Amino acid sequence: VSTGFLWHELYGWHDTGPGAGPLRARGWVEPGQPMAENEATKRRFRNLVEASGLLARLASIKARPATVSELTRFHTPDYVALVKKLSSAEGGPLGGLDAYCGPGSYEVALLTAGGAIAATEAVLDGAVDNAYALIRPPGHHADSDRGNGFCIFNNVVVAAMHARAEYNVPRLAIIDWDVHHGNGTQGAFYDSAEVLTISLHQDGWFPPGSGPVEDRGAEAGHGYNINIPLPPASGSGAYRDAFHRIVVPAIQRFAPDLIFVACGFDASAFDPMARQMLGPDDFRWMTDTVLGLAARLCGGRCVFCHEGGYHAGLVPFCGLAVLEQLSGVNTGIEDPFAPIIASIPGQELQAHQRKAVDRALAAAPLLA
Ligand SMILES: [Zn+2]
Repeated sequence: VSTGFLWHELYGWHDTGPGAGPLRARGWVEPGQPMAENEATKRRFRNLVEASGLLARLASIKARPATVSELTRFHTPDYVALVKKLSSAEGGPLGGLDAYCGPGSYEVALLTAGGAIAATEAVLDGAVDNAYALIRPPGHHADSDRGNGFCIFNNVVVAAMHARAEYNVPRLAIIDWDVHHGNGTQGAFYDSAEVLTISLHQDGWFPPGSGPVEDRGAEAGHGYNINIPLPPASGSGAYRDAFHRIVVPAIQRFAPDLIFVACGFDASAFDPMARQMLGPDDFRWMTDTVLGLAARLCGGRCVFCHEGGYHAGLVPFCGLAVLEQLSGVNTGIEDPFAPIIASIPGQELQAHQRKAVDRALAAAPLLA
């Protein structure tokens, strides 16, 4: 298996200033710390990939800036112009909740959306079998006309639209396991029966109230959006149940020609921005499951794009597990967090979690 990997130094240079969690420092929020979405998790993930020796076994994919016309397949020209204007001055808010442009962020965000495109092209050109784009800032909360939740441009949506426009890929599936709802991605393809969007997320958490099971898609797209809201403290058992009963059969029935994964690691047990309990082994298992689907349905073609994940210690091991699985390379590195995460009570499927999956299943026409 040939696995592509993409990172660019400039992804570490996007800077939204001091803060705490989702807040910017002001008033009683003391400056001196970065906001939750900062370069550390991404850099340390990339560093572990290198230090483990895995980087040398992966095919390097070169990022390039997205063009404005690639962005405006989804985003409005006015929004792209706003980002450019803020970026060339001192930065500023991007319209939605907790999304900021820093000085120079526009050029980074172009390289981010373009990175997702480059990884997609590498897979569709057959240069690699699958790919991981370690990109920043994240994208899945970005709507067509505003940023949201640390996201500037919706990288996966831009890459998916590129695949459809330039490669005529008939059917795409996007699995979003970032712990927050993939609202921007859902909105982009809400009316489409040719793009299946599935989001697993902590119920109602971010954006506030977003991602109920009743959001199924509209018109021709009815049934082609599946939300799986899981209660807080969902762990290995809950995610496996959701995959076994919803994600796997839905993807099988849909039979995509390419699978995207919006790969956030903020459902991990130590994440400060959510309350789920996954560890590296769970991300490994989910990756293996996606690879199995891709092998059966679409020649193994899948593109993973990095989204959230805010614990600088744990994210690198989650990421390494995903990359080992994608590439089939075992680095021999033992996950030092595994015993801690396995010992958290309630990792097995709980009755109320099963009911949450039941509700999502009952609301999905594709699985009727
Ligand atoms: Zn997230």
